Amino acid sequence: MAPVAAGSDVAQPAGDPRAGLRTVTAIRPVLHVENVVKTYGDGDTAVHALRGVSFSVERGDYVAIMGASGSGKSTLMNILGCLDIPSGGRYLLDGVDVSRLEDRRLALIRNRRIGFVFQSFNLIPRTTAQANVELPLAYARMKARERHRRARAALELVGLGDRANHEPSKLSGGQQQRVAVARALVTAPALVLADEPTGNLDSHSTAEVLAVLDRLNQSGRTIVLITHEPDVADHARRLIRLVDGRIVTDVRHRPLPYLQRTVTVA
Ligand code: ADP
Ligand code: MG
Repeated sequence: MAPVAAGSDVAQPAGDPRAGLRTVTAIRPVLHVENVVKTYGDGDTAVHALRGVSFSVERGDYVAIMGASGSGKSTLMNILGCLDIPSGGRYLLDGVDVSRLEDRRLALIRNRRIGFVFQSFNLIPRTTAQANVELPLAYARMKARERHRRARAALELVGLGDRANHEPSKLSGGQQQRVAVARALVTAPALVLADEPTGNLDSHSTAEVLAVLDRLNQSGRTIVLITHEPDVADHARRLIRLVDGRIVTDVRHRPLPYLQRTVTVA
């Protein structure tokens, strides 16, 4: 079979009159959350952090999740990132039901399919940008030469090819966060999850990091970002608002990239 966009599940091939080409539809979303409930504790003291959340994110989308403090954003993020499992409902990541997996399998999926960007960068100090970006590949036991090559390419992608040998302390906040973005990307994950990625940055560095995320999304990466800053959320294609553990609005501001609906294969 002819190659299609990486990782996409293909169904319903439709005939195309142009010789040698046919159009197929990518139907599998990157993530699918169905009636997800998360309750901490039980009885009278139970906290209902998520009260039945459902949505899908398709390949190439850029989704911002907003909500007041305590609305369930971090709880949802932890579930989407396979750091925690729901108390009820289903979560499919890249077609795999991860809602009932045990810790070891969950960790494996987390390492392979998700790239995380945190508010606090989480870079290893006194370790070069290059080595920081290589780390997830070292966990995946990739050979050194291939690791170097991929990490260098990821640093180029975030505009830091010339800073590969700098340690975090020698980089600005915006540059450190771009290293973190490169680290998130280097495993070619299905999904980049960013939790308040600009929360610790000044306006110049915020613009720098948002420009990188915009560029990544334009080149086809799927991004889910949590923020409480409307200016940051404006960069996304779609905005989901949480109130008290429920989605109250889910609005698309920009269409999905065309390639998400139909992929033409030779
Ligand atoms: P947000 O990130 O939007 O501020 P959270 O997801 O952190 O919201 O929290 C949602 C609700 O769940 C809050 O009432 C919070 O106190 C509660 N909560 C979060 N984590 C825990 C936990 N580990 N144990 C008990 N309650 C929790
Ligand atoms: Mg939170």
